[in-house]
Amino acid sequence: MEIDLSAYKSNIAFFTKKLFPTKLMAVVKSNAYGHGAVEISHAAIESGVDRLAVAFLEEALELRAAGITVPILVFNYFNPRYAVEALKNKLTITIYSRRQLEEIKKHIPSGLKVHLNLDTGMRRLGPDINNALELAIDISRTGYDLEGVYTHFAVADEKKEQFTLAQVLIYKKFLEELKKARVNIKIRHVANSAGALRFNESIFDYARIGVASYGLQPSEEFYIDELMPVLTWKSVVSYVKKIKKGDSVSYGRTFIAPRDMTVATIPVGYGDGYNRGLSNKGEVLISGKRCRIIGRVCMDQFVVDVSHLPQKPKMGDEVVLIGTQGEENITAEELAKLLGTINYEITCAITSRVPRIYLRRENLT
Ligand SMILES: *Cc1c(COP(=O)(O)O)cnc(C)c1O
Repeated sequence: MEIDLSAYKSNIAFFTKKLFPTKLMAVVKSNAYGHGAVEISHAAIESGVDRLAVAFLEEALELRAAGITVPILVFNYFNPRYAVEALKNKLTITIYSRRQLEEIKKHIPSGLKVHLNLDTGMRRLGPDINNALELAIDISRTGYDLEGVYTHFAVADEKKEQFTLAQVLIYKKFLEELKKARVNIKIRHVANSAGALRFNESIFDYARIGVASYGLQPSEEFYIDELMPVLTWKSVVSYVKKIKKGDSVSYGRTFIAPRDMTVATIPVGYGDGYNRGLSNKGEVLISGKRCRIIGRVCMDQFVVDVSHLPQKPKMGDEVVLIGTQGEENITAEELAKLLGTINYEITCAITSRVPRIYLRRENLT
């Protein structure tokens, strides 16, 4: 994988400008959507981002171990025993239930920095508006610093705006309740990438930008021209051979050659996160042309048809799995569509076996 940090920084600059005065919280969970959390976090901070977010406490600890000192919000569950790590490492935790608060209190009675997750329609984590005020007051009384309150959109990527606007209304109502109860909140945030792009009048203090910062389109319903893809995934040709009409290719013999063919083997497989669902479906780029996968994707390799290439490829020739080669381009969105999933899952799935090479402007020329 080549990770173009200048492209990432240009996406961050685009959002910074577009959302001003709202600031960005760079979401770097799941190894920065596969791009490499430590490197991406450094790039975010170099671009002026002053807050990061991850799903799990362990992800935040990895960033702290790498010397990252900006506030990091943990969105998700952690074992209450590890509250001590949260405090020690100055992490900001999410509290989403009374049960969780009680358990955490047993380990750390005060001093934690907290954001409360309000459920306004996602029905995933967090109390609804009828139960949230009491919890907010308890958090403050505990002697925790209730710094922020947030919610999460369920359909910000879809054309219809009604549900998202209703979520914002509930969120605003809760802010009013907090004000009346004299619970002072410094940081308010609601929007993910799609939400920030579409509802930029009502996104409060921070936007939690994940997918779009990686140049991945946040929605199938609208297209953002300015986003620059950050990731290119390349391999090489390991072997080229001729096969005969009637020969089968790979496990399960799911492909039978309809004619004599020239085929190439690529040393990448589902062990690298190249989805097995792309068997007999996906395409890669060789010599600037699309070449279709034939037979099943194995753990470490698959085979493509190269019969149509004007020049037979040879061992070591570049193969592009995601990215541009010549005039052709394969996007994470294209692979997602073939697999009936979303671009997020495509990049998150790329395993640690694939080396990440970080390109900066100075070594791009
Ligand atoms: C993952 C996540 C985000 C980022 O969403 P994108 O669609 O990738 O921008 C924001 N907020 C929460 C709570 C998340 O879990």
